[in-house]
Amino acid sequence: MHTLEELITAIAPADGSGREVRDPATGELIGRVPEHTVSDLDRALSAAAAAQPGWAALSDKERSATLHAAADAIETSAEALATVLSMEQGKPLNGLNARYELGACVAWLRSAADTPLPAETLVDEGERHAELRYRPLGVIGAITPWNWPMMIAVWQFAAALRMGNTVVMKPSEHTTMSGLALLSVAATALPDAVLQAVAGAGDLGARLAESSRVSKVLFTGSIETGKRVIRASADHVTRLTLELGGNDAGIVLDDVDASQIAEDLFWGAFINTGQTCASLKRLYVPDAKYDEVVTALTSYAASVPMGVGLDEENRLGPLQNAMQYAVVDRLVSAARDAGARITIGGNPNPDQPGFFYPATIVSEIDPENALVREEQFGPVLPIIRYGDLEDAIRWANADDTGLGASVWSADRERARGVATRIEAGTVWINAHGALDPRMPFGGAKRSGYGLEFGAEGLKAVAQPQVIAH
Ligand code: ADP
Repeated sequence: MHTLEELITAIAPADGSGREVRDPATGELIGRVPEHTVSDLDRALSAAAAAQPGWAALSDKERSATLHAAADAIETSAEALATVLSMEQGKPLNGLNARYELGACVAWLRSAADTPLPAETLVDEGERHAELRYRPLGVIGAITPWNWPMMIAVWQFAAALRMGNTVVMKPSEHTTMSGLALLSVAATALPDAVLQAVAGAGDLGARLAESSRVSKVLFTGSIETGKRVIRASADHVTRLTLELGGNDAGIVLDDVDASQIAEDLFWGAFINTGQTCASLKRLYVPDAKYDEVVTALTSYAASVPMGVGLDEENRLGPLQNAMQYAVVDRLVSAARDAGARITIGGNPNPDQPGFFYPATIVSEIDPENALVREEQFGPVLPIIRYGDLEDAIRWANADDTGLGASVWSADRERARGVATRIEAGTVWINAHGALDPRMPFGGAKRSGYGLEFGAEGLKAVAQPQVIAH
């Protein structure tokens, strides 16, 4: 078991160099992280390439058992890891936050270890036989964002390792400590150099993405950076899985009981203080239920404590960084100036330390307002009124992204009918963002391509091979 102090000390460069890490809730210094160079990256890639054949030579059963041992190691040190995560990312320990994220790390790792992916028989006719099997790709480059820095790291490395690849990961520069801490704990159960992390900013990520030694890049981040990764992949025909976020829509139908769905709607939008790729970012509500839904969400929002992550009672935290705070503040102010109604929030306290932006509900907003059209990635939910369901479906689909979406109704079949018309990788009914390691997850349109989780996620980090005679 690792203590918090051991984790933080092991990450900090011994000579006192490196970059300072500060708690986004308080501005307090919590430790230092290394800044790796291109030569460090090259060394990591060489070590990963050297370790890969030995790792791939283990049986599938042995690799699964090793991944379970890594999950055990994470579970044993979960409390220290959750504390690092809370201090660096800002998310509270409780609620759908740090401890929950550690639980998800363990669940996804065990699921990747246990999901079967047997060879398939394609043809079996007398003398003719063909099978489809899956070989490792080699070294996988993994690039993670700062919102769920531990869980998304597991999403990327678990499947990759299971299929016999080795992994070099670059965590976001905003949450380097969380990435390094998680990987150092997981690596205690793994053979040397099978799973490594390099610390740096986008330029180091770019070097990883363009490396001839990387067979596939798994990238989760913004659309603009995703396009750079696509360009970088061209020279070596590097395979890609891209999860580029979205601007998820929810459509409420006119048969709901607002008081019954308010809590799930709220957490569908405000999970991780709204800093979630597949969270509800714009909600379309019919005239008949509009006032009820706005009132129910506003009163629920008023009951949720926001504050410093390490305080056990908080359920919402600060934004992770100044850049994201500025985006949220700009979009809410512009919506207010355009005549939208702020029913709660929208009034950050300039004297409060940290990047706190209060939970904000915005009603009577134009469907074309920038707060609706842009991914705000913060604790804000615009609620758009509709008269005709066809308009709501059209507005939901007008976006050029399509990661998740949701439909809310007392009638599941009716909701399903609407769900099938929405252009998104996943549509939840009476929930939003309810990810499950057994269900493949990936975006439509500019939310990216490729799938994670389940058998599809394993196939995504493997080379399919047909053997025929
Ligand atoms: P955000 O703006 O929310 O931080 P990004 O898409 O810029 O989102 O970052 C996601 C991850 O991509 C981070 O780890 C970041 O360092 C990395 N990154 C940034 N620029 C590049 C690039 N050109 N190539 C590869 N990775 C990059």
